[in-house]
Amino acid sequence: MDKIFAILGDIHSNLDALNVVLDDCRAQGVTDFLCTGDVVGYNACPRECLKAVRDLGCPVMMGNHDHYVSSCQNLADFNPHAAAVIEWTRRQLSDDEIDYLRNLPFVKTVMGMTLVHSTLDNPGAFGYVFDHLQAEASFIHQMTPLCFHGHTHCPMIYEKQVSAVYRIDAQDFRLPVGRKYFINVGSVGQPRDGDPRAAYAIYNIKTRQIVFRRLEYDVEAAQERIRAAGLPERLAERLAIGR
Ligand code: ZN
Repeated sequence: MDKIFAILGDIHSNLDALNVVLDDCRAQGVTDFLCTGDVVGYNACPRECLKAVRDLGCPVMMGNHDHYVSSCQNLADFNPHAAAVIEWTRRQLSDDEIDYLRNLPFVKTVMGMTLVHSTLDNPGAFGYVFDHLQAEASFIHQMTPLCFHGHTHCPMIYEKQVSAVYRIDAQDFRLPVGRKYFINVGSVGQPRDGDPRAAYAIYNIKTRQIVFRRLEYDVEAAQERIRAAGLPERLAERLAIGR
């Protein structure tokens, strides 16, 4: 049987989005899961999302929110909205759940595919890749033809040819042999590309076909959970606009 991977990332405690994505994975015939990290942060269901991801039994990379929640990081320099949710999330999780997050790897290779949350040049620094120059820096450290990442919450393809790196809008296509790809799978739980629908990617390892999925979910339910938890209103509002 062909291995069909779903690559999920930046779930950010959004259970309403995650449930719709997991249902879609089943409908699409997904056989294996990979997670590029940031299971928690921003939304109101950290425990439920963490359980759902752990139940998948798949590789999960360390995201910056996973790291901040599970470390003693001082949050004084943080955006106050982000800091409020990190502190709130720390209070929701058990010691075992915090331990799980603390021990997530920064980089892993699975069947010839590399996984990282942010970028392969200094993954623990959580730099952002928004252009071909930043992607070029990561490609230097990419030893496999394909690497999946997240962090910006914007689906995107970076292609390395012999002499240059190109940025290509996320689109379904068959990856040609002989080039390297650094692919951002977008965000399940807090998309920021102007499209509020949940995002993830499917990759068929045999046919080399990548498909970018976008799915409507109950945004109002996720917003209500944020309000009920007393988290910042701005975090509820941004879900509706995908920014
Ligand atoms: Zn994130």
